Amino acid sequence: MALTPMMQQYFQIKDKYKECILFFRLGDFYEMFFDDAKVASKELELTLTGRDCGLEERAPMCGIPFHAAKNYIGALISKGFKVAICEQVEDPAVAKGIVKRDVVKIYTPGTYTEASYLDESKNSYTASLYVKENHIALAFCDVSTGDFYTTEFKYNINVLIDELCKFNPREIIITENFNQEIMDEIISRTSFYISHFQDDNFNMEEEDLKEQFLNIEIDKLSEIVTKTCNGLIRYIKETQKVSLTHINHIEIYDICTYMTIDVNSRRNLELVENIRDKGKTGTLLWVIDKTNTSMGGRRIRKWLEEPLIIKEDILNRQDAIEEFTKNIILMEDLKEALNSIYDIERLVGKISSTAINAKELISLKHSIAKVPRIKELISNLTSPLMKDVYSNLDELRDIWTFLESSIMDEPSLSVKEGNIIKTGYNSLVDELRESKTNGKLWLANLENEERIATGIKSLKISYNKVFGYYIEVTKSNLSSVPEGRYIRKQTLSNAERYITPELKEMEDKILGAEEKLIALEYSIFTEIREKLEENIERMKNTAKLISEIDCIWALAMVAREHNYVKPVINTEGIIEIQDGRHPVVEVITKANSFISNDTTLDLEDNRLMLITGPNMAGKSTYMRQVALITLLAQMGSFVPAKEANVSICDKIFTRIGASDDLAGGKSTFMVEMWEVSNILNNATNKSLVLLDEVGRGTSTYDGLSIAWAVIEYICKNSNIKCKTLFATHYHELTKLEGEIPGVKNYSISAKKVDNNIIFLRKIIKGGADESYGIEVAKLAGLPSAVITRAREILETLEDGTSKDIIKEEAKTVIPTTEKLEKIEKEICLTQQIAFEDVAMQNLIDEIKSIDVLNLTPMDGFNKLYDIIKKAKNI
Ligand code: ATP
Repeated sequence: MALTPMMQQYFQIKDKYKECILFFRLGDFYEMFFDDAKVASKELELTLTGRDCGLEERAPMCGIPFHAAKNYIGALISKGFKVAICEQVEDPAVAKGIVKRDVVKIYTPGTYTEASYLDESKNSYTASLYVKENHIALAFCDVSTGDFYTTEFKYNINVLIDELCKFNPREIIITENFNQEIMDEIISRTSFYISHFQDDNFNMEEEDLKEQFLNIEIDKLSEIVTKTCNGLIRYIKETQKVSLTHINHIEIYDICTYMTIDVNSRRNLELVENIRDKGKTGTLLWVIDKTNTSMGGRRIRKWLEEPLIIKEDILNRQDAIEEFTKNIILMEDLKEALNSIYDIERLVGKISSTAINAKELISLKHSIAKVPRIKELISNLTSPLMKDVYSNLDELRDIWTFLESSIMDEPSLSVKEGNIIKTGYNSLVDELRESKTNGKLWLANLENEERIATGIKSLKISYNKVFGYYIEVTKSNLSSVPEGRYIRKQTLSNAERYITPELKEMEDKILGAEEKLIALEYSIFTEIREKLEENIERMKNTAKLISEIDCIWALAMVAREHNYVKPVINTEGIIEIQDGRHPVVEVITKANSFISNDTTLDLEDNRLMLITGPNMAGKSTYMRQVALITLLAQMGSFVPAKEANVSICDKIFTRIGASDDLAGGKSTFMVEMWEVSNILNNATNKSLVLLDEVGRGTSTYDGLSIAWAVIEYICKNSNIKCKTLFATHYHELTKLEGEIPGVKNYSISAKKVDNNIIFLRKIIKGGADESYGIEVAKLAGLPSAVITRAREILETLEDGTSKDIIKEEAKTVIPTTEKLEKIEKEICLTQQIAFEDVAMQNLIDEIKSIDVLNLTPMDGFNKLYDIIKKAKNI
């Protein structure tokens, strides 16, 4: 048995798109066959049926109506599938034999741009990466807006992951022979969707890029950047199968142009996603995103994710914001204009991908209509950024006029149903429309005449697709139907339907005109779209500038609403904040109940703030607040403080909170240590580091020792020596103040009144000596029996009467003979003194004589520390 011709055609096509689910157009349905049908029926909950295919067994089949395809495609893509759309590509009326079909679009997670799948407040990127020797090149493209970025850097897996996470692409394209080790790292540390693409696509001629992009001189791009851009643009073209003129500008960036915030810090600081449910609520973006347009929303997110490090750029934004804050009437007027602007970037993207309809062109027209008003409003502004925006802002008046004259004010949704071209734009359209209208008038007259002639008042002329125009007479009036003149066409339960020769004649005229009109309107619409396509660059540019105005507006609005100040920006490493507030916690806490705090950090005596204080006092909040104020300042924004002088940081690192990465094979403590090691290996003198409770995930003394050593390393290693906030419950660490240059003790105050704790939330100089953990546990609702027992145990421990516990604990602190000998050797070696040196021996005897049993673990530890210090000074 042989396959039917249609099934042969199906297999020829399916063979080329093995990795996709093939939607095969048959009449008004997209059908799926064989394995595709099995998968799709399961994933989309469709009934699995079968179809004769020429073989003994029927082909498994399921289908969906073509007009409902969007939802199904979106569902499949969200589940990680790719969908290839196979359409009839010739008119069945003229086809000889089986109608020709081909794939006209491939939808993939990165390239699917249906509005319901996209989030208007986020870009939706597809990425590509290319590695050669120890260099890596990345490219990112948002097909819906045409944004295209590329960069290259020396290979470092952490930097690669950070950069990928910043853009958060929906899909990553790599060569088929991509480096397995790197791929394993990406897979184990992220959940990005990865697509392989034949290597040849990355090796295209330079001409390909030159054709696509207007702005670049290809010869200036490195080989690997050219390859990665090639791979990405080829992939997009192959899936979209249209020209994509809106992707015409490559932005080449250097990863050092922006402050580096690694992936953990982004998460910990809850910049754009909260840790709880990955939503926007409770994030910094949630507070500052007061933008009026979706374009502004996407740009402010980008500004937040890419804080600046060039002082002039920061000051430019600040000045513009300041100018807005001082002019409330301007802000009100701008808000009104911005509010009615639709997503020009994505509308422009739709023009280029030919997906735009006439209603969307009207949205574009209404949006463009606001640009002259916006330009007028900013015309008197004097800040350099706004002056620049003003002089570059193209009002697109010609495009508005063109749309106003060509597209109806309320066109139909589908571009293939007519009713889109405005009267007066094209004389042929007007003529056809007139004949159609005349025909309809003639019908109305005929209906009237027939009612009079027959005396049937309820007689009506209607239309349906099967019979065309017909005369309908209800059963009760059938006796009045004129014999011979009416030809019966259909019988219904309560009526008969008739036609007459003259009715059919007019029907031909009306329908002929209608058919011609629809075809003509569609072809004119295509011309209009093509004309607009020639102006894409101009429209994109206007959209970008509008989004910048909107961002400045939003930051000015936040500054006004929340009383932010313009920070001074310095490059001397100083962070001096007076009455700083946490931008998110202050919004969430009850009105005016947030307690502000000061901060002093520099590269001299105030390098490391060692912050102690009770649980729940506000240590983490305080540390994050310093980081967020720094970050806002580098975005160019005003900051929540009374006064602030902020140094430009190259990187912000945080090690906050507990999380594990079980899938990645890391326990909570391992994640903590991994993050600390990343910080110690990458922080520089210009970085800001936040370390919260380092070492708490292991035994007390292991943790304390690690925390201690980390502080020493940061403060003494000449490659780091950076500004650091270090919160801890190891109060023993407070003795480092005065010993390690730059360490300053601070604590967040609280009062104990009877057995209850009152949080004062004020940061003060000096260390705390208690954590009040049991009081906080009580607040959290631990059973009173547990609280009482905990107090008993604490007392016992503090009194030092529980010898067994102390003995056990002390073992970890007081060195064993073996450890002592090691210390002994090391000290002798570094001090170049003989073993038998008397002073040395005395010290060692002193260590050996520590009376373990009569000391609390902490006292033992402190004593040992003093002795070792003494030894080092010999
Ligand atoms: P722990 O040591 O238990 O982790 P912590 O000292 O780090 O606690 P935070 O988590 O920073 O404490 O703060 C606890 C809560 O206190 C916050 O969720 C916030 O609601 C409130 N809080 C913190 N700082 C302030 C402040 N300055 N003003 C008002 N409320 C604050």
